[in-house]
Amino acid sequence: MPQGIITVSYIIASVLFILSIGGLSRQDTARRGNLLGVAGMSLAVLATLFLPESGNYFWLLLMLLAGSVLGWLAATRVEMTQMPEMVAILNSFGGLAAAMVGLASYLNSGAYTGAELIIHEVEIMLGVVIGTYTFTGSVVAFGKLSGRIGSKPVILPNRNLLNLTGLVAILILGTVVLAGETSNHWFILLLIAVVAGAIGVHMVMAIGGADMPVVVSMLNSYSGLSAAMAGFMLSNDLLIVTGALVGSSGAILSYIMCVGMNRPFLSVISGGWGVEEGTVLESTTQSGEAVATHAEEVADHLKNSRKVVIVPGYGMAVAQAQHVVKDITETLRAEGVEVRFAIHPVAGRMPGHMNVLLAEAGVPYDIVLEMEELNPDFPDTDLVLVIGANDIVNPGAQDDPGMSIYGMPVLEVWKAGMVVALKRTMATGYSGVENPLYFRENTRMLFGDAKDSLTQVATALHR
Ligand code: NDP
Repeated sequence: MPQGIITVSYIIASVLFILSIGGLSRQDTARRGNLLGVAGMSLAVLATLFLPESGNYFWLLLMLLAGSVLGWLAATRVEMTQMPEMVAILNSFGGLAAAMVGLASYLNSGAYTGAELIIHEVEIMLGVVIGTYTFTGSVVAFGKLSGRIGSKPVILPNRNLLNLTGLVAILILGTVVLAGETSNHWFILLLIAVVAGAIGVHMVMAIGGADMPVVVSMLNSYSGLSAAMAGFMLSNDLLIVTGALVGSSGAILSYIMCVGMNRPFLSVISGGWGVEEGTVLESTTQSGEAVATHAEEVADHLKNSRKVVIVPGYGMAVAQAQHVVKDITETLRAEGVEVRFAIHPVAGRMPGHMNVLLAEAGVPYDIVLEMEELNPDFPDTDLVLVIGANDIVNPGAQDDPGMSIYGMPVLEVWKAGMVVALKRTMATGYSGVENPLYFRENTRMLFGDAKDSLTQVATALHR
């Protein structure tokens, strides 16, 4: 295939990727955005097969087939609650691929001399360092998110000194590689990879469970950067553009999540935010009296309300209660009750978690609103149903400076006429802090699995 056609294909694929990211930013265009991304990637793979340096078609096609089948199986089997760990493991593949491209490029760098060789070797080392860091960090993130490794932060003594020593070792070893004339120093490159991998493990082990999604998003950004490095090594413009897109969008997303949780960005990604060295984080226990209610009573309150707001949280995802939530919404709207959904930016365990679940259940997009849009309306709301949400509706984040989530913007549900909180026990949410909302005069607790409780409410509503 002429080089011109390949170049044009690469440009079209880049545009498709940009349009894809644009589409993914809104629920009603997300499906189209996804399809544009698939089209862009298919075009990119096809054009790459026709590059002059492509060969070994048997192996290439076999690998493509194997990757596609595995990807298809994983994507169709993964539960929505397992999505963050799936993203983590996919990031690790990106990092590993970039590191391997780096090692292969180093062994093949015979054609370069002088300044070109130095530039090439710097690209290789950056690719290997970022790639292996991303690989091991993502594997640890996968382990933590899937419960294979404990989610508590592991804070080693002198952890910053350890990281710094690793970084200095990489710089010294890198200088040795650059000083070498040929590709004979591959074992030193391997040593660099081992040190970078160890830093990756150490950094992510130090990060606590609640901050893991930010870390996964940051590792996603690093996997983009390592892909861009691989693009430089292979002189492949599309890989550079795609890697830069993933790198920048992942970094922006991590930043937005940190703002949503009022966490210092740099502290989260350097690990162990808010914990003293050697501390073991434990959930605190609730104190005081909470008033329980039952499904029939909640159904009566709902029927007698004019305006209802539903706040979904992580517990709705765990219970898979979104379909019964949609059923209740339809029933109430048919009876003239105004029902809207309030989405906190960090509800659930990944950005857009609640939006995805509600869209899957078929809740209309126009009644799903952001926190800033709904917060002013709570004083004029008769009833708020808090479904498996905890931290995102904690009034202590506004009025208790001693609370670790103090300063995090929250949904001001307590300003409504009545709040019904659905959860199984009085246990804390992910941040491990108590929630004074449950002891307010206008709060009622509907204990039990959210899906079971809501099914009873729906039955009572239909009666
Ligand atoms: P929380 O983790 O604060 O609370 C979830 C609640 O759901 C728990 O209190 C739990 O109580 C309840 N629950 C669990 N399972 C069920 C069930 N089957 N039925 C009913 N209730 C259930 O979740 P939120 O969504 O309120 O807040 C998200 C948290 O995650 C925040 O701390 C946020 O900072 C953090 N986070 C989110 C990110 C994101 O991108 N979305 C990123 C980083 C962090 P019980 O066990 O008693 O049932």
